[in-house]
Amino acid sequence: MTKRTRWVIGNWKMNGTFATNAALLHAVSAGESGGASIAVCVPFPYLAQTQAALSGKAVGYGAQDVSQHSSGAYTGQVSAAMLQDFGATLALVGHSERRQYNRETDEEVAAKASALVAAGMTAVICVGETLAEREAGNAEKVVSRQLAACAGVISGAPAGKIVVAYEPVWAIGTGKTATAAEAQAMHAFIRGDMRRFGARSDAISILYGGSVKAGNAAELFAQSDIDGGLIGGAALIASDFLAIVAAAS
Ligand code: PEP
Repeated sequence: MTKRTRWVIGNWKMNGTFATNAALLHAVSAGESGGASIAVCVPFPYLAQTQAALSGKAVGYGAQDVSQHSSGAYTGQVSAAMLQDFGATLALVGHSERRQYNRETDEEVAAKASALVAAGMTAVICVGETLAEREAGNAEKVVSRQLAACAGVISGAPAGKIVVAYEPVWAIGTGKTATAAEAQAMHAFIRGDMRRFGARSDAISILYGGSVKAGNAAELFAQSDIDGGLIGGAALIASDFLAIVAAAS
């Protein structure tokens, strides 16, 4: 059986101040004890602070989005090379909040993932269905469509440069978590679906995201196709985040 990297990645979203970040970064880097790979995805303005705080620590960091372009007249966008100037090694792409509020398409998400991989970074590709899509019986169809758009980059990327995060939209920030069985079923589907387009999917880490907490992490992470978590709200509280890390280790 292929051994996959177990990840716990924090998505801070649009939260934080210099003061709260300093305390959080210190507590997380001081409290982790090996095991799972850990990273935090911080707002762009705090990359320099994060770089300084995590220098020499076993906690990676990155951004919550990236431009699909390398440079030029793209006001407000941030390139992969700019992220790398601050030591970032990964970024989220296709988070449901960006798909929803910024109208990001599957094709844009794929182009962003490709930009990261071309720069030697890891792309954390977020996929997931809305409640309406699940209730209509279309959850797998939607996730399959989102993955298919990224087929080229997923199947062509070097080992470890693609992580997939399954985040059912109805579970993000709502307190509603998919049951461990529901999440496992979708993760197994995702792994099989990626194999269909030629990806070495047994080696790709697939994370679950959506109201993961210290209390439900262990059961979710015990599932055979769940390789860790993408954590929103609970990533802002060091003790909660570290408890989730411990559950993945
Ligand atoms: C997320 O934003 O990726 C997320 C999973 O959020 P939460 O854990 O708060 O549901």
